[in-house]
Amino acid sequence: MSDINLLLRKLPKIDRVMDDLPPDLIIDIPVSLVKRSIQELIASKRKAILAGELKSLPGNSADWQQLFIDAIHCKNSLNYKRVINGTGVVIHTNLGRSLLGRDSIDAIQRAGSCYTNLEFDLVSGKRGSRYSLVEDIICDLTGAESAIVVNNNAAAVLLALNTLSLNAESIVSRGQLVEIGGSFRIPDVMASSGALMVEVGATNRTHLFDYKNAITEKTALLLKVHTSNFRVIGFTSEVSVAELVSLGREESIPVMEDLGSGSLIDLSPWGLPKEPTVQEIVKDGADIVTFSGDKLLGGPQAGIIVGRKQYIDKIKRNPMNRALRIDKFTLAALETVLRNYYDQDKALANVPTLSMLTADAIAIKKKGQSILRRLGGAVNNKTFIQLQATVSRVGGGAMPEHGLDSWALVLQEDAGKTSFLENRFRALDIPLIGRIEDEKMQFDLRTIQEDDMSIIVDILKTLKSELAA
Ligand SMILES: *Cc1c(COP(=O)(O)O)cnc(C)c1O
Repeated sequence: MSDINLLLRKLPKIDRVMDDLPPDLIIDIPVSLVKRSIQELIASKRKAILAGELKSLPGNSADWQQLFIDAIHCKNSLNYKRVINGTGVVIHTNLGRSLLGRDSIDAIQRAGSCYTNLEFDLVSGKRGSRYSLVEDIICDLTGAESAIVVNNNAAAVLLALNTLSLNAESIVSRGQLVEIGGSFRIPDVMASSGALMVEVGATNRTHLFDYKNAITEKTALLLKVHTSNFRVIGFTSEVSVAELVSLGREESIPVMEDLGSGSLIDLSPWGLPKEPTVQEIVKDGADIVTFSGDKLLGGPQAGIIVGRKQYIDKIKRNPMNRALRIDKFTLAALETVLRNYYDQDKALANVPTLSMLTADAIAIKKKGQSILRRLGGAVNNKTFIQLQATVSRVGGGAMPEHGLDSWALVLQEDAGKTSFLENRFRALDIPLIGRIEDEKMQFDLRTIQEDDMSIIVDILKTLKSELAA
C-alpha cells in the first residue's frame, strides 16, 4: 500500500472521536458545532495528505484529542474580536476606524434593548423619518440648510451622483480621480451611479477655464473630490470650491464636493495640517458636501450629505436611498458623537479619535513609563524592552504626509525573532497588533487605551519570564 493510503487509513473516524471526547471539555458547546469541527479537521488532514504536504500524523490518541479540542474551541470562539491597536495609526480602517465614547455606547445599548422613536414622530403620533433625528444637529454644526445620513461616505457619493447626474454629465478634474482603497475609485463610483464622467485638466493642474470649456447642455454637476490620501506637489494648481461655485451659479449647475474625512474642527492649533472643515466648504457655497462619519469626525461608520434643501430633498426621494440607509445603532451613536461638537473642548475630550490625535507626546510617554515600571528590570542583564520616540499616523486616508510625535515600547529581540513574535502576539485571545520598524517589534502608545494597559503588562510579563527561563 502506498504511503498516502496508509496515512489516509490512519485518520480517525468521526463517531469514534465524538464518543471519546471528555464531556467536561466541551460543555455547553452545541453538538453540531463539535461534529463540524471534527469533520473539518479530518478533511483538512486528508486534503494535505492527498496533496503530499503531510507525511506523518499524531502517534497517540491523546495528541489527536488535543488537536480536536483546540479545533472545537477555536470554532466556538467569536470571529469578531477585540484587539489592541499598537500600530499608532489612529483611524485604522482595518482595525475598525474610530472608537466611540461612553455616551455613544450607552445610546447603542438603548437602541438595541428598547423600542425607540426611530421612525415615529412623538409630536404628531404619525410615521416619522429616521434622518430627522440628526438633521437639525448636523445643520447647526455645519451651517448647511439640510442634511441626510446614509451607510457610509461611498454610499453618500453614489447616492448624490445618482440623484443629481443620472445619464447626465459631471465634470471632474483629472487630478482628483482618486482611489480611496478597496474598490472605491472615483471613475468606477461615477460609472456605477449612472453619471457620465467628463474629465478635465491635467494630473497636476486644472484651471477654471477647463471646467468652463467642458460645460454643455448635458452638464448636471461640477464635482470636486478632496485628495485626502495623497498630495500633488510641485507645479500644481487646483480650482477652489468658491471659484467652482461662482462658475456653477453663472451656468445654473450645482457644485458638489466629496470631502472624504470631513472634519468639523480645524486641528491646526494642535500641530496637525490645515484641512478644510465642512463648515468652510458649506460657507464657500458648495451645494452638496459628502463626508465620512468614522474618519476625522470620530463617529460610527456613516456617510453624511449636507447642502441646499432643494438637492437634499431630491436625494431623500431617491429610491436607492432605502438600500443605503443608516441603521438604528449607527444613528444612536452618531447623534451622541455630534452633540459633543456643540462645544469644541467637549469634542476634544469625549471623542476618542480627537483625543488621540491631539494627545501630547509627554502624556503618551508616561503610559510607556508606567508599563515599564510594572514590568521590572532587565532579563539576564539584557535589556528586554525599551521606550523610544516614534511617529504615529492619522490614518483613514487623512493627512497622509503628517507624522505625530509619539513614543513606543520596542522589543529588543534579535531581528530573526521579530516575525515569530508578531505572529504570536496576533494569535493571543486579545491579539496585540504592533508595527515592525528597523526589524524590531514596536507598540506605539498613542493608540493604546487605558483598558489595554494591564493586558499588555501581562503579555509582556509572560514573554519576559520565558526569556529568563
Ligand atoms: C474615505 C473616503 C471615501 C469613502 O468613505 P467611506 O466612509 O469609507 O465609505 C470617499 N471619498 C473620499 C475622498 C474619502 O477620503
